[in-house]
Amino acid sequence: MAQIRLKNVSKRWNNFIGVDNFNLDIADQEFLVLLGPSGCGKTTTMRMIAGLEDITEGEIWIGDRLVNKLEPKDRDISMVFQSYGLYPNMTVYENIRFPLKVRKVPAGQHHERVMAASKMVELDDFLQRRPAALSGGQRQRVALARAIVREPNAFLMDEPLSNLDAKLRVSTRAQIKNLHHTLKRTTIYVTHDQIEAMTLADRVVVMSKGLIQQVGTPMEIYDRPANTFVASFIGSPAMNLVHGEIHNGVFTGDHIRVDGLSTQVNGPVTLGFRAEDAVLADSNAHIEAPIYSVELLGEATMISMRVAGELVSIKVGKDYRAEIGDVVRVNIAPSACHLFDRSTGQRIA
Ligand code: ATP
Repeated sequence: MAQIRLKNVSKRWNNFIGVDNFNLDIADQEFLVLLGPSGCGKTTTMRMIAGLEDITEGEIWIGDRLVNKLEPKDRDISMVFQSYGLYPNMTVYENIRFPLKVRKVPAGQHHERVMAASKMVELDDFLQRRPAALSGGQRQRVALARAIVREPNAFLMDEPLSNLDAKLRVSTRAQIKNLHHTLKRTTIYVTHDQIEAMTLADRVVVMSKGLIQQVGTPMEIYDRPANTFVASFIGSPAMNLVHGEIHNGVFTGDHIRVDGLSTQVNGPVTLGFRAEDAVLADSNAHIEAPIYSVELLGEATMISMRVAGELVSIKVGKDYRAEIGDVVRVNIAPSACHLFDRSTGQRIA
């Protein structure tokens, strides 16, 4: 059982707060992703769980053990980093076996465990090679196998895919997901890539400036972002955010007027909607503005226009043809609109 609990965990260096009062219960076998931009505190959070970084305040529990003072090696977790950390003079086989030797696992078990781990990541044909003779993707799989072979209670992974090219990243991502399904171990995974977070996670923790912004399933975070930071971080393209005024359920701004919004709030707000929730209209449209850019995506076309000073993107059919400067009319279903407080950025509807 590896339930992991962080209670009021903070990390400060002098006056700088790297992680601010982090509270979270991670369930046994959960795949939890820490997501946020560079410098938001996700690696520090993970390093504190691993025991590689002292915590300034709070408690970290793994299972029923308070681990604050426990050495990394005694926490029963395996780590996988973006830099693979392989030993260049050892073969793949020896690299994978290494943690078993260090932990004094009886030698009689080594071969079977190395073979099982290497099979899981499809490395059985490369066991006698040295790391220099492997591709980046193969090296990362050796790092994964070396984490698996220990059979730990939990895995901590810090941007394990970021050194791989786009295609390998997609296939290795699928492999990590499949491994989690097979091994059923609690996994904490750090990334700044929202697509990785959406595809891998049971739950995502979105962080900014050392603070948790939102915790939820990928769909909860996508469908109901807690604030404009989360709204603008999740989704590709990010949610359109337009500043304006709302009165009696009618939102107005330059080039935009959306009625029928169900809220009691009146005054300055930010209206959010996703590119795929807008549809082209003939007349009486919510948005009417000249096209700023047209991008062909293959399966669809993305057009953008300037609305209330912001560039908004609309996804239309792949056969849609229009020129920059053409006036386009767009409707947004009121139920697909998100409203945020203009000054705090917090969700109001
Ligand atoms: P990245 O995606 O770039 O790795 P991150 O979200 O993982 O970013 P952290 O590495 O956790 O960010 O760093 C959080 C903040 O703490 C950053 O502003 C960083 O500069 C700061 N920080 C990290 N280590 C130290 C340190 N040893 N001393 C002072 N500040 C530090």
